Amino acid sequence: MKGEMPDGLRFETRAIHAGQRPDPTNGAVITPIYQTSTFAQPSPGVMLDGYDYSRADNPTRRALEHNLASLEGAKHGLTFGSGCAATSAVVQALGGGAHVISFDDVYGGTRRLFTRVMAHDNRSFTFCDLVDPDAFLEHVRPETKALWIETPTNPTLKLADIAAISERAHARGLLVIVDNTFMSPYFQSPLELGADVVVHSCTKYIGGHSDLVMGAVLTSNDAFAEKLRFIQLSVGGVPGPMDCWLALRSTKTLAIRMQRHAANAQRIAEYLQAHAAVKSVSYPGLPSHPQHALAKRQMKGFGGMITVVVEGGLDKARTVLERLQVFTLAESLGGVESLVEHPGIMTHASVPPDVRAELGIDDGLIRLSVGIEHVDDLIADLEAALQD
Ligand SMILES: *Cc1c(COP(=O)(O)O)cnc(C)c1O
Repeated sequence: MKGEMPDGLRFETRAIHAGQRPDPTNGAVITPIYQTSTFAQPSPGVMLDGYDYSRADNPTRRALEHNLASLEGAKHGLTFGSGCAATSAVVQALGGGAHVISFDDVYGGTRRLFTRVMAHDNRSFTFCDLVDPDAFLEHVRPETKALWIETPTNPTLKLADIAAISERAHARGLLVIVDNTFMSPYFQSPLELGADVVVHSCTKYIGGHSDLVMGAVLTSNDAFAEKLRFIQLSVGGVPGPMDCWLALRSTKTLAIRMQRHAANAQRIAEYLQAHAAVKSVSYPGLPSHPQHALAKRQMKGFGGMITVVVEGGLDKARTVLERLQVFTLAESLGGVESLVEHPGIMTHASVPPDVRAELGIDDGLIRLSVGIEHVDDLIADLEAALQD
């Protein structure tokens, strides 16, 4: 990390400077894209600044890893070719035969990875509703290694109390892993709340411009970081230098982007809640959210994701999605442009219908990723789409 920077710098300042320093040879202010696979050695086995091969380490990637670690308040940062690759590395680092207890409403791709890939390796997964922090206790077995939390969840925006769960999990020797993608490091700091490991899909808010796919793992647990580093090197699911550079460019504006995402989302959630064509709205910033008090305690802001159930089921939902013009109908989230999608048909199609029903993923349910356009334009777009 950047040794000569003063201690105690705030988030916005670290976002811009952590992990990066002007190049000592030519003064370049921005860390270059080190688009190289290999590094010359002055003598066999002697590496300059620790670099020998870009699967192992690369200067652009190292700068980003330090930057992200700083933003999450972690000692160690590791990046991967996607959020799913980061998730796999964490599960692999738990060892063969591990049992993991996961929040039931996790990202559809995470559930698919757990049940259809990772479970084949003698690992097992139990899904349970972690809204009640005691709910997982009855599922703990001798081989249970970790709890997997995503909060808020996707798409129903349920919250898990990270501090309460971490306390209970640590008393039983379990590791607590939090997928912090929805809040970004700006709005939620799981490590401060007691979690051991944070996972991000950098594809979302960290990247923030819908132009890269990447994942990251942040932790201050030295032993776990060492296992992850070995898996990163051995399995090799690393991001390329160009994507690392784009992500470094993105974290510089993370704070102001998140502020605008949240301000726009709050206005839109309030607008939708009052709309006659809307059955229900879920947004952690609304007092009507069942866990609004926890959201205020645990998060520094409420994020940019809103879940809406429209009156009239699938047909009406389809009409609304087809009519929206400023909101783009697409999977993914967290970019500067507003996106909308239908989890039942799109992102959560891999979740079996009975499980979707159990999780409350209604046919009329639409997920909004509110961007940073002018909020009045977004509201006008929704108003036109929701009309009879
Ligand atoms: C998108 C997403 C992932 C997976 O990340 P990819 O970069 O798409 O592999 C994991 N968790 C959450 C919450 C996500 O939104």
